[in-house]
Amino acid sequence: MKRVYNFSAGPSTLPEAVLKKAADEMLDYQGSGQSVMEMSHRSKEFDGIIKSAESLMREVMNIPDNYKVLFLQGGASSQFAMVPLNLMTKNGKADYVLTGQWATKAQKEASRYGEANVVASSKDKTFSYIPELDPSTFSKDADYFHICMNNTIYGTKYHTLPDTGNVPLVADISSCILSEPIDVSKFGLLYAGAQKNMGPAGLTVVIIREDLLGEPMEKTPTMFDYRTHADNASLYNTPPCYSIYICKLVLDWIKNDIGGLAKMKEINEKKANLLYHFLDQSKLFRGTVVAKDRSLMNIPFVTGNDELDAKFVKEAAANDFVNLKGHRSVGGMRASVYNAMPMEGVEKLVAFMTEFEKNNQ
Ligand SMILES: *Cc1c(COP(=O)(O)O)cnc(C)c1O
Repeated sequence: MKRVYNFSAGPSTLPEAVLKKAADEMLDYQGSGQSVMEMSHRSKEFDGIIKSAESLMREVMNIPDNYKVLFLQGGASSQFAMVPLNLMTKNGKADYVLTGQWATKAQKEASRYGEANVVASSKDKTFSYIPELDPSTFSKDADYFHICMNNTIYGTKYHTLPDTGNVPLVADISSCILSEPIDVSKFGLLYAGAQKNMGPAGLTVVIIREDLLGEPMEKTPTMFDYRTHADNASLYNTPPCYSIYICKLVLDWIKNDIGGLAKMKEINEKKANLLYHFLDQSKLFRGTVVAKDRSLMNIPFVTGNDELDAKFVKEAAANDFVNLKGHRSVGGMRASVYNAMPMEGVEKLVAFMTEFEKNNQ
């Protein structure tokens, strides 16, 4: 059997222990004689799976009791519409910060439903930094304030949160969820697609403060009303059962094998720092992001020469370091070092980059 070091931005690498456990239970889940893929979502076995996925999520992320955890579908992209449909309902207005493609898509979608103000943007420098935010420019009567916490494509991250006062802070945390502790009580709503750091594609997690579960806009589809899912414990219709099961195994792994999110953060910092330190001293490669805004999860870098970039990506793949090509909108390279990427993978990548640098002076 062969396993590569997979630096994909998503869907991305999963912990080997999780894949092995899933393989062991593939044909017969805990004596039920069925695969989790085959069983009714109303069965007692699946009820156990979804309940323990939720309780593990609450425990690992330290989610306060006045928040609902919803297991939905449609990807983070559906949340770009679901958030305004449900929350932009008092004053028809929200504030957005444009820090990349996902944040821009979220703002564009929201503008179909109301006034989606752009309070700041880092588009002028290809989203290579997080813009300074001045609270005096925020809309006092916004229904919410939206940020994309970790910018998967560009490799930036908010290291401090904007002070939005009484305006609920909403964050897309698709590519940083479970990578480090997060104070959920500072947010009104958090959402994340699973395929970066939680499990397979198909599952989207929403964590919403209960007082925000209000009346959505008229004609909001039933499936896009948060209350539909909150009132039915995410079982209004068939949920993405297998993705929820893998997510539960990933949460188990974080809790029991890693030792929780504080420990996860420590490991992630070691991995990211190793690569950043290499980039900072390299004479061939350089990071593309303002140092203080660097992401812990997505690390873009370039040589400054497109042909050399392509050569690097090709030779890396031949050495089993795969999916290092940067996003089509920025070029260069990007190493996504999510939770499941072992330290060894980053050490070996840095060794490979050192060798490549030597051979391509
Ligand atoms: C991947 C990603 C998305 C898009 O997620 P889908 O599940 O494909 O809709 C949105 N936001 C961020 C930050 C992402 O990383």
